[in-house]
Parts: sequence; C-alpha cells; structure tokens
Amino acid sequence: MSAPADRVATEFAEEFGGKPDGSWWAPGRVNLIGEHTDYNDGFVLPLALEYGVAAAARVAEEPVLRVRSVQQGETVELPLDAIAPGAVDGWSAYVAGVGWALREAGHDVPGLDVVVDGDVPAGAGLSSSAALECVVAVAWNDLAGTALSLDDLAGVARRAENDVVGAPTGGMDQMASLHGRAGNLVFLDMRSLEVEHVPFDPPSAGLALLVVDTHAPHAHVDGEYAERRRSCTRAAELLGVPALRDVPLDGLDEALGQLTGDDGELLQRRVRHIVTEDARVLEVVDMLRSGDDPRRIGPVLTASHASMRDDFEITVPEVDTAVAAALDAGAYGARMTGGGFGGCVLALVDTDAVDAVAGAIEAAYAAEGYRAPSAFVVTASDGARRL
Ligand code: ADP
Ligand code: MG
Repeated sequence: MSAPADRVATEFAEEFGGKPDGSWWAPGRVNLIGEHTDYNDGFVLPLALEYGVAAAARVAEEPVLRVRSVQQGETVELPLDAIAPGAVDGWSAYVAGVGWALREAGHDVPGLDVVVDGDVPAGAGLSSSAALECVVAVAWNDLAGTALSLDDLAGVARRAENDVVGAPTGGMDQMASLHGRAGNLVFLDMRSLEVEHVPFDPPSAGLALLVVDTHAPHAHVDGEYAERRRSCTRAAELLGVPALRDVPLDGLDEALGQLTGDDGELLQRRVRHIVTEDARVLEVVDMLRSGDDPRRIGPVLTASHASMRDDFEITVPEVDTAVAAALDAGAYGARMTGGGFGGCVLALVDTDAVDAVAGAIEAAYAAEGYRAPSAFVVTASDGARRL
C-alpha cells in the first residue's frame, strides 16, 4: 500500500485526536486514448493509477466539515450549511463540494473530520482533483450509510467539481477513479455512461506504460478548451446531429463537405479529430478485447497524437518533443494525454527500454532548453475503496 494510505491515520490522530472511523483510498487516472471525445458524447479509455489520495475520516458531532490536507499544510473548517456554489475557495472546495452535492441529492449527511494525503502530482493532468473528490465521496457515503452506487458517487463528485469548484469538466475522471480495476482499462461510453472493463496488463506482455509529466507551462487552457467545445457544438448544429459522436467514420468525408463558410476549414479539422478519435478508441478496445499483442495498439496511440497536434491543435512544443523522442527511442506508440496545452505524455515501451526512452526524452528536453520532465511507469489499478 502506498505511503499516504499508511500515514493518514497517524496524521488524523495528530490533527483531531483519537482514531478515525476508517480510512479510504481513491486513485488518480490517466487516459490511454480518447481526448476531447467526452463532451461530444463519445468514448474514452482511462485507467486508474496506483497513485491517488487517501483519507482518514470520522463522523463529527456538529454539522461541520473540518478537513486537513497534508499537501496543503492547512486545515479548513466549514459549517455544512455554509457550503454552496461560489462560497468556498481553494482546495477545500473539492472536499466541501462533495458534502454539498450529497445534501443537494437529498442525503442528510453528518459533519466530518477528515485528513487527506495524496501522492498523485496535482495539476499534472492525472486527476488529483477526482482522486480527492472520490475519496471523500466514498468515505462520506460509508459513514452516512447512504449506500450510493459507484455511478451515483461519480455524479456527486462531478457536481462538486462543476458547481462548487466551478470547473466545467466532464465525468470521465470520477468514473475512472471509482470504477478502476487492476489489470483493466475503464471503457466509458460518455453518452450512456455505460462502463466496460477491458483487460490491459502491459507487464504480462513485457511492456510498460510510461507516463511523462512534461512540466510544460499551462497557458490559455481555459479559453482554448472553451473554444474547442464551442467549435464542436457549432459543427454538430451545422451537421444536424445531437453530438459529433453521431457522425459515422464512413460518413466523415460527406460531413466535412457540408462544413463550408468562413470557419469551414477549421471546423472540418475539429470534426475530423473527434470522429477519428472515437474510432481509434473503439479500435484499441477491439484489439485488447480479442487478446491481441498490446504492442499493436502503439500506432493507434501515435495516430491520436498526430490528430491532436494537426487537427485539434491542442499540443505544445514540449509535448510534441516528448512524443517524437519516445518514438525515436523505440516506443511502440506515444501520445499526449489529457486536455492539452501541457500535461502528460504516455508511451508504450518494452519493459527493458523504459530507461532508454525516459533518457531520450530528457536529452531532447535538455537540447531544447526545456525544464526537465519526470517519467514514471504506471499500471492499471483498482478504484476507490475502504482500506
Ligand atoms: P489535476 O486534477 O490534473 O491534478 P486540477 O487542477 O484539476 O489538476 O486539480 C488540482 C487541485 O486539486 C489542486 O490545485 C488542489 O486544489 C486539489 N488537490 C489535489 N490533491 C490535493 C491534496 N492532496 N490536498 C489538497 N488539495 C488537493
Ligand atoms: Mg482535475
């Protein structure tokens, strides 16, 4: 078990005195493939990480939330009645938002004393935010006896982030954190929210999934994200479909031909990314479901990167450099993962090539004068749970 899970009860005793009622764990996630498809009602294919956030919690006598974050070195105290959209700032909004969303859903939850301690890097695109929300959601759910399903808990965690934190994110991160399963991907249909576990165990094939935090400075992310969403909505309207998910791959050329006008060329590229990306997710799922050598998904991952770089235009030079260096050093496939404009790159590599690929990326960064990246191997891990 990871260090935060070991530490969290001790931290609780120091902060609040006595013992917690229990400890919980929720992982971060990385998306293997399927970028910007979520808000187009399409497909995504994340895996839960072995990195995440642990929580030790105890029901409080008063209807008050007291939460300490080891990473933030701060304790925040909030009466439950005072939690509302716009009323809580900073990191504690992710935690408080869960209590608010549970109450909004009609559950009479008690106050909580809780310590959180995580090892997923915050802000790197590995969803420390969902890990934090989900660990608090499963803890509160257990202690309040509300017995919500994983899907309902994902909805609660998402509302916390959308409404109380104020971040207009889709539901993928919370679903991955809650539904994660060791040795499996979490294949999600973002229209029906149906979940299927798809076997993915690189180590058993002599492979490693390498994640590289590019440390690229995130700039204009919110504005660019909103612009991509607007373009997709507009294109779907012009094409007369509910969402771009409804444009079939074999009808793509015909659809692109209908996008004319001033912004026609731009919309064509945006649509081409979404439609081909959905198809790539399904292709990867098909390959892995049928037990193919996982190396075969490599070129599909790389094609996804090219599509994000050339058609959706959400990569940055640091990210493109890391992908190119990984491929040059022998990776079977590599792509940016996450919303873009920085964040992480993933690469599928032979186990014994991990150091060479990581070293090649570092060398390419040094040659460009970029801030050094950090690379680590991840495996598909279990989702949120009581410890
Ligand atoms: P990501 O989800 O990619 O890590 P976000 O910006 O969505 O990035 O979420 C990061 C934020 O989540 C942090 O700025 C902080 O407010 C909150 N957070 C994550 N982990 C913790 C933690 N262990 N303690 C307190 N806050 C945390
Ligand atoms: Mg996040």
